[in-house]
Amino acid sequence: IYGEGRRNSRGINLNINSQYQPLMDEMARFMDSTYDVRPQLAFDVDANAERRQAVTCPFDRRVTVGHVQWTSADEASRAIDAAWAAFPRWEMTPVEERAAILERFGDLMEAHTAELMTLCSREGGKLLTDGIAEIREAVDFCRYYANRARADFGAPTVLRGPTGEHNEILLGGKGVFACISPWNFPVAIFCGQMVAAAVTGNTVVAKPAEQTSLVAHRVVELLREAGMPRDVVQLLPGDGPTVGSVLSSDPRITGVCFTGSTQTAQIINRSLAARENAPLPSLIAETGGLNAMIVDSTALPEQVVNDVVQSAFQSAGQRCSALRVLYVQEDVAERVISLLKGAMDELKIGDPRDLGTDVGPVIDEEARAGLLKHIEEYRAQGRVVAEASMDPAHTAEGTFVAPIALRIDGIDSLESEQFGPILHIATWKGGDIDKVIDTINGLGYGLTFGVHSRNESFANAVAQKIRVGNVYVNRNIIGAVVGVQPFGGQGFSGTGPKAGGPHYLHRFATEKTRTINT
Ligand code: GLU
Repeated sequence: IYGEGRRNSRGINLNINSQYQPLMDEMARFMDSTYDVRPQLAFDVDANAERRQAVTCPFDRRVTVGHVQWTSADEASRAIDAAWAAFPRWEMTPVEERAAILERFGDLMEAHTAELMTLCSREGGKLLTDGIAEIREAVDFCRYYANRARADFGAPTVLRGPTGEHNEILLGGKGVFACISPWNFPVAIFCGQMVAAAVTGNTVVAKPAEQTSLVAHRVVELLREAGMPRDVVQLLPGDGPTVGSVLSSDPRITGVCFTGSTQTAQIINRSLAARENAPLPSLIAETGGLNAMIVDSTALPEQVVNDVVQSAFQSAGQRCSALRVLYVQEDVAERVISLLKGAMDELKIGDPRDLGTDVGPVIDEEARAGLLKHIEEYRAQGRVVAEASMDPAHTAEGTFVAPIALRIDGIDSLESEQFGPILHIATWKGGDIDKVIDTINGLGYGLTFGVHSRNESFANAVAQKIRVGNVYVNRNIIGAVVGVQPFGGQGFSGTGPKAGGPHYLHRFATEKTRTINT
């Protein structure tokens, strides 16, 4: 992406417009499109004005991007009927055929990158650079899972046994999976869940986040164009209390794949457990984190600050992998903070469609209000360390929050994850490292973590002791790549499966052992 050209102080090439221009020209075609969509179920859905919701643009609340008709509880239940009816047929469909649909789907998304990016930006407030990475990740999920399915689900694995016996193990689908996805990765995570469940032989009822139903709808249109039968993957836009609660309480749901808050995962878990006469369900959950980074006095401050700014403020901090607490060794704290202030002064906040923008809006008014409340509490205690500034000419109409760094005594003083551009900073003294690690582990979250140090044995020891799903040494802690950094946490951060990893598909599967007396 980056060619030769003028670079800003953080090394970002400012002269990249020419590389992006063709994509931007294509995106311009979709900038004013409006969408009016309904659930995509196995059966036709009548128009219903009462369930029609407006979707508002986060960087300009005056703009309505489109409308989406939410699914009723009755339609959700009928969708599950249809999904069950389709399951035996889909499970018997050869893996090769299922994998080929995923690959065609990936190709179609790639061909429609500009349109999907435009929707991600207008509906989800995504920066262009984030949008490119988002579509890339969705395409990667399709291709990676197609290949993993071919490798693991094609032929049975023959096992050694006594003479006169043939033993084998074969992977198959479990039944109907409910996929409940978040707005912060409205294409990548939405697709990743759906295609993993479907390629392994399950049928899918998918509920996208309320805020990003339009792009989900467009993606499912492409999935159908790629050949996915309409009763195998169904789209149920709607809210948690209606659609979410049908999906998590229906005894016919075999598994739920969820990405979102820890609190919602716990509600889903309780609801699944309370079902009577229901098979024991699978819950694949990837939830929040209170992600930390430890920096010692040997680390390179410039590199630390570059990685901290990316980890805490990229995507306006709206990644579950984002950095929430920076632990800096006391001796270098002043230097790191002074560089951080300089870097934050340069951040440009505004329209995500401008290439010069570093930080776009947060998703909606409710999110902004929650973040501002947290900031004001800390401001009142005199704990603001650094703060980016916003130009109202670029931010007045949207739900923007200026990136901020707040001083805290320790990670255990935070009550919950703040899902936005808020970084907390604590300091630690040389002899205290074990205490710091114990405190972080003691919280019970375990998603991402970073350590910056030029002392290899220190970095290795810290990386080993910390209990998280993804540890990053001497780099930023976001942007896990499919097939390269399988992603997912433990404890309050999730049930452990690693999206984009070699074992992920097995979580969606049954294993049948067959023994034949020959
Ligand atoms: N996989 C993403 C990353 O590594 C984060 C996913 C999420 O926010 O749910 O940044």
